[in-house]
Amino acid sequence: MPLVFYNTLTKKKERFRPRRDREVRMYNCGPTVYDYAHIGNFRSYVFADTLRRYLEHRNYKVLQVMNLTDVDDKTIRGARREGLTLREYTDRYAKAFFEDIKALNILPAKSYPRATEMIQEMVEFIKVLIKKGHAYRGEDGIYFDISSFPSYGKLSGIEIKNLKAGARVRQDEYDKENAQDFALWKFWDENDGDVYWETEFGKGRPGWHIECSVMSMKELGTLDIHTGGVDLIFPHHENEIAQSEAFLGKPFVKYWMHNEHLLVEGRKMSKSLGNFFTLRDLLKKGHDPMAIRYLLLSAHYRAKLNFTENALRSAENTVNRLRRFVEDLSFYSSKRKNNPAIEKAIRKAFQGFERAMDDDLNVPEALPFLFDFVSEVTSLMNSGEMSSADARKAYEAMMDFNFILGLDLNRIAREAKRESVMLGGREFRIRYSGIEIDEEIKQKIIERERFRLSRQWKEADRIRESLRRKGIVLEDEDNGVKVSRD
Ligand SMILES: [Zn+2]
Repeated sequence: MPLVFYNTLTKKKERFRPRRDREVRMYNCGPTVYDYAHIGNFRSYVFADTLRRYLEHRNYKVLQVMNLTDVDDKTIRGARREGLTLREYTDRYAKAFFEDIKALNILPAKSYPRATEMIQEMVEFIKVLIKKGHAYRGEDGIYFDISSFPSYGKLSGIEIKNLKAGARVRQDEYDKENAQDFALWKFWDENDGDVYWETEFGKGRPGWHIECSVMSMKELGTLDIHTGGVDLIFPHHENEIAQSEAFLGKPFVKYWMHNEHLLVEGRKMSKSLGNFFTLRDLLKKGHDPMAIRYLLLSAHYRAKLNFTENALRSAENTVNRLRRFVEDLSFYSSKRKNNPAIEKAIRKAFQGFERAMDDDLNVPEALPFLFDFVSEVTSLMNSGEMSSADARKAYEAMMDFNFILGLDLNRIAREAKRESVMLGGREFRIRYSGIEIDEEIKQKIIERERFRLSRQWKEADRIRESLRRKGIVLEDEDNGVKVSRD
């Protein structure tokens, strides 16, 4: 089954064929560093990360670039409000952004260019547009002439025939009704304060849209994939196409991929409704970042995602269940013969999972294959009908799924504590699953094992019961015991 993606440009699913064999050049519109990113923003970044992980799983080499917009109308407004330099102000939110994506286990991109570090490249780019007749000098800036680019509107589907010739929009964000010539370069005015660059255009600064055209091309050349949220289709991406293709004289991006909005408790996120969350807000409330990631990726990226407290709790349960499974596999030990059912289950899980993911990254259709696999192997493990080698194979399969989903599922297994005690001439292993216990309880566990070795079942059970009343659960394993909390 070939890999297909829905392309916003052609409005259909297309077979994925990057320009260079097995190498993908992907650009993701990154954060405007004027505030803490909210979970709707993180939906975009988790989507881009899942896409990259899946392409890597499919043996593509992915060159991924994500920009930081650190000069635009919003960053300048914020810096002036707080009396900081633009750099001081944007550094604060850039730092927070990198902490946040790390918490969400998002793989680092190849580079994170900052707009303020490519000003000269932007000037050169705009000079070419002027020379080619696509841009002109207005009274307050340099503008892109959309009538010079006949396919303007091809991404967002807007019609431009009703436009007033020469009508211009200076601000970075505007809606479809105001489609008109847009600012590539803004001459300084007092609202910009001390934010300006002295260039051959005079004192000024770039418009938002030109930044992404220049940063993406400088880092990657033409692109195979460009991603962003649906709210960026117009005007941002429409304008990126116009500038870049006018500059290049050829197509700029092969596949445009956009993720849908995120709703919170069924409504559009907004500060006034009190349903506006940054990642930090959720982490402060004690939510598990991997559950947040799971919830963000579990819906299809082209469907609206309703982020609710209930859904988050259920994501937490799911992630914990997957972690426990990985942990159990990593400690499973048995001298049984290999069970052919394991390899069969692995094959079936990957076939189903990949078939769904190959079809425009259909995560919600892929996940049930993972859960079926978990149930099947769990029941073989519980009934002891598999070998240690089978457990290792199942563990490796889980690590492949874990790479694609990015849920850090083996963290607990990695950190799990265990110790061994010699009892009756053999090794008795105690493993602590997400629990710390004191010496007294450890001695009780050993005492219970001594009773078991001498077949004093009643006494052994009495200790187990007394621990259970304290919320400590003992589960016997092949050569030891697992200790966890109720
Ligand atoms: Zn952008």
